[in-house]
Amino acid sequence: MKKENTILIADDSELNRDFLVELLKEQYDILEASDGKQAIELLEDKGSIISAVILSITLPAMDGYEVLQIMKQKRYLPSIPVIVTTTDGDEESEIKSLSMGASDFIRKPYNPVIVQKRIENIISLRNSASLVYHLQKDRLTGVYSIEFFNEKVSGVIKSSSEKYAMVYSEIQNFQLLKDLYGESTGDGLLVYMAKVIKYFLNDDEYCGRIGAEHFAIFVKFDKERIEKTINEISTLINDYPVKMNLTLQFGVYVIDNKNLSVQAMYNRAILALEKIKGQYGRHVAYFTNDILEKQIREQEIVNCMEDAIREQQFQVYFQPKYALNSEVVAGAEALVRWNHPEKGFMNPGEFIPLFERNGFITELDKYVWDVTCQCIEEWKEQGYPVVPISVNVSRTDIYDPDFIDIIMGILDKHHLVPQDIHLEITETAYTDNPKQIVEVVKKLKTMGFIIEMDDFGSGYSSLNMLSELPIDILKLDMGFVQGDLNNTNSNNILSFIISLAKWMGYNVVAEGIETPEQIQMLRNMDCNFVQGYYYAKPMPRREFEIHMLKNHVIGNASGDDEEIIDGQFEKSNGVMLIADDLLLNRRILESTFEKYFEIVTVDNGVEAMNYIKDNYEKVEVIMLDLVMPVMDGFTFMKQFRREKKYDNIPIIVTSQGGEKSVAKSFALGATDFIEKPYNDNIIIHRVQNVVAAFRKSHPKK
Ligand code: C2E
Ligand code: MG
Ligand code: MG
Repeated sequence: MKKENTILIADDSELNRDFLVELLKEQYDILEASDGKQAIELLEDKGSIISAVILSITLPAMDGYEVLQIMKQKRYLPSIPVIVTTTDGDEESEIKSLSMGASDFIRKPYNPVIVQKRIENIISLRNSASLVYHLQKDRLTGVYSIEFFNEKVSGVIKSSSEKYAMVYSEIQNFQLLKDLYGESTGDGLLVYMAKVIKYFLNDDEYCGRIGAEHFAIFVKFDKERIEKTINEISTLINDYPVKMNLTLQFGVYVIDNKNLSVQAMYNRAILALEKIKGQYGRHVAYFTNDILEKQIREQEIVNCMEDAIREQQFQVYFQPKYALNSEVVAGAEALVRWNHPEKGFMNPGEFIPLFERNGFITELDKYVWDVTCQCIEEWKEQGYPVVPISVNVSRTDIYDPDFIDIIMGILDKHHLVPQDIHLEITETAYTDNPKQIVEVVKKLKTMGFIIEMDDFGSGYSSLNMLSELPIDILKLDMGFVQGDLNNTNSNNILSFIISLAKWMGYNVVAEGIETPEQIQMLRNMDCNFVQGYYYAKPMPRREFEIHMLKNHVIGNASGDDEEIIDGQFEKSNGVMLIADDLLLNRRILESTFEKYFEIVTVDNGVEAMNYIKDNYEKVEVIMLDLVMPVMDGFTFMKQFRREKKYDNIPIIVTSQGGEKSVAKSFALGATDFIEKPYNDNIIIHRVQNVVAAFRKSHPKK
């Protein structure tokens, strides 16, 4: 009969093994190894069923210490206890093996009762400890796992008469952070956040990790304390060393119904959070009964949506898009409105999310595309200077196998071609099902459609998406420009994303532009198009027609800005040393220059210095970021320019502009300064000029 636990006995003496087998076989299944190598093989193969190891220290092929060492590296030890067998009086090996992670030892000659007792103890300890550990704790952050959190909370709720609240937290743009700084930085942030949260908790208050970057926090209800703590957590999180402004949002459900399941409680906290999701400057939202009332209202909407299409209650508005340089209308977006006979005029925010959930969005979208195409057809006939009109495509449309036929059918009906419209696809479609969307978008592209990625940066944006999806235009989410314009961190990220997009050959549209300051900033960042209330709100067809007529109209919003010229300089055997803490900046430079130099990349000044020390004869040019951890660009230049022998190496500073940093860089010996975001053309030319000049004036021996 199969026993509950299996023991591995590793001993080279057959006699010893036989003794132990005889003693233990009644109670355990036994595996035997006669040397260390065999023991490791068995552990590797059957580790998951082995409950304990009895290990002799003096083994051939690989001794017991080595076995312990390998088990530690392979992380077997935390879960499989080892009992070492020693000869009487050999205290030294006993201490050594315990220090290497063994759980206990038994001395030869064996006392059968002691052997049985030790093994029994160690196995029951292991079973309870590891079981509890696995069930209780989230491996990464050490807070409670969902299951255990649920159990703990429901226990407290049942037995306590106090009032509690359930808080749910979200880190904005967490995916983007991982893309920019790596998975381990993301993990580090979660570990840090868990520590911060735990610091604020009292007894009977718990934190659990609910999926990727979300924590649920169960606390006594005290509104003032909760909000104060939320503020403190939001401040402390920004001490985490990453060059990105970290924003947290919290949903709170004050538990007024103790009969709900714990999951339903944090779901209510999630519903509350959804009300403020992505809204700048809003950090906390409470669950209120109007959220339930909203569900009732939604039901009413569902009841009348089909009639609404039939009775033409939906209207299509147009919001012009402007070219930033010339400020002329370069396109427009078709946005739906609902003019309901009883409820009045409704904005899409009130019904689109609902239609996306219940699938009616595909019907509505078909209607909007049809009305839009009809308008374009008539404008063409009437001689208007027509611009391409963007229509929104929801993710459900993309999963519809007939999607392409439907849209082609509508174009045909109105004698239009794919180039007459742009398709706006929202980024969440990608996160839901990357494979399918890539496939559909590729097909659309070959048919001549122009694809815009909508709301980029609003949710789970991933930079991966940019490289995988063959889009033409990137539409930045409003959140980017509606934040605090003086926040350098978010501006750096915005400018970085714009330059990355442009480097990938996409045009960039910024949405939600309301002030001249935002326009100035976007101009500096070389953004191509803008859409926003500052220029024009969404408007009915007739108004938009006048708008089109009044404006000069330039052609196509997807038209390329400029051609990228390949530099003409010869490939050398020299090294370009790139020092920048952002992986993606390093990648951009690397791919631009790898045809011309051997590329070496480092992410801080100290590493750059170390590399130069041994390799200065090879280095032909240094591309230096100013803001880096450990040693920044300025300090690097100070040290570097002290060495005479480095005189023939030019430094090109690549950084955000600002007169001060430009002047300071040159004073410290920079050869040139290129402002981020950079344009490929410019940077290739600059580097070419600098390197050519240095090759002439400082010929290598
Ligand atoms: P979207 O596609 O990102 O559209 C831009 C939204 O930003 C529009 O909201 C527009 O009115 C608003 N907006 C434009 N400029 C500014 C500004 O300067 N400040 C502010 N605060 N807002 C500005 P709208 O019309 O309420 O539409 C909301 C969302 O509903 C759209 O976001 C889109 O995702 C969806 N939507 C609208 N019409 C349709 C449609 O026909 N089909 C589908 N599938 N979705 C639609
Ligand atoms: Mg849109
Ligand atoms: Mg948008």
